[in-house]
Amino acid sequence: MSGSSLPRLLLLATGGTIAGRASDVISLNHYSAGVIAGEELLQSVPQLKQLAEIEVEQIANVDSADLTFAHWQRLVTRVREALAADPDLCGVVITHGTNTLEETAWLLQLLINDPRPVLLVGAMRPATALSADGPLNLFQAVQVAVSPEACGQGVLVVMDGWIHSACEVTKVATQGVGAFESPDVGPLGWVDDAGVHLTPARSDRPVPFAHLQLAEPWPQVAILHGCVEPPSALIPALLSAGVHGLVFTGTGAGQLSAHERRALEDWTGPLPLMLRANRCGSGPVHHRGQFARLGLVPAGRLSPQKARVLLLLALMAGLDRAQLADLI
Ligand code: ASP
Repeated sequence: MSGSSLPRLLLLATGGTIAGRASDVISLNHYSAGVIAGEELLQSVPQLKQLAEIEVEQIANVDSADLTFAHWQRLVTRVREALAADPDLCGVVITHGTNTLEETAWLLQLLINDPRPVLLVGAMRPATALSADGPLNLFQAVQVAVSPEACGQGVLVVMDGWIHSACEVTKVATQGVGAFESPDVGPLGWVDDAGVHLTPARSDRPVPFAHLQLAEPWPQVAILHGCVEPPSALIPALLSAGVHGLVFTGTGAGQLSAHERRALEDWTGPLPLMLRANRCGSGPVHHRGQFARLGLVPAGRLSPQKARVLLLLALMAGLDRAQLADLI
């Protein structure tokens, strides 16, 4: 028990470039991600002590391309446990690699039912770089996490001073500190030295998998990318391999080629749960009878990678096609 009157936060470190180290300060691309411990990241920003009392736990220390379902399971379990066990905990901040940050944020959005902020932050430059963005991003993430405005907003992502919703955010650039956007709708707000700017939260955020217990083994869900003359052998190969779900990254508004449609029509076995997303990066995929007849559920505005996360949880929860469609 501490005598501090500061809000208490849990920092869960998972690795990424924010915890990356290069051999010299001008190496922006050649570095090892996920090598600096969360505790060291915290100590590198002493100004955080003015904002909150922060306890650090290391969930993993990897490049986010190397995250596994086991890491996700550990992270979700720890967030749930920490919030349930400690009513005085103000929120949870997660340091994460930027490459798959939006998938983890969306996973947590679908699973964590608590109004307290759960917030992800990363960096585009390693911690050792000249003008590293990690320290300020971490400071601003904590600023948001301790602000009353962040309550009830669902899972948030703070990068480069912008506050994004887990539902909308996506990485849109391979380099540069402003690599995150929320296409179609824009960010929820921003944070600067004048404070946190967020419009009040809706009170009715749905958390469809709030009671789902994650269990090994996770389903296998593949993503297929639409293009001119996609290799027609891929669909039967995946279906024969027994995938539990498929996400089609259709061209335009979620179009599948005649080849792909035929491959589904020709398949004589049971079809897995399937979502139809798009490769445009913004805009919706709507219902179309032609695709519905093949068992494809439109993914709405979900990106292929977020559609896959939804499908993983839907499969784990034993949902059928209609129940999946109701979630979108
Ligand atoms: N390779 C990094 C990752 O862990 C990229 C980053 O964090 O910016 O995703």
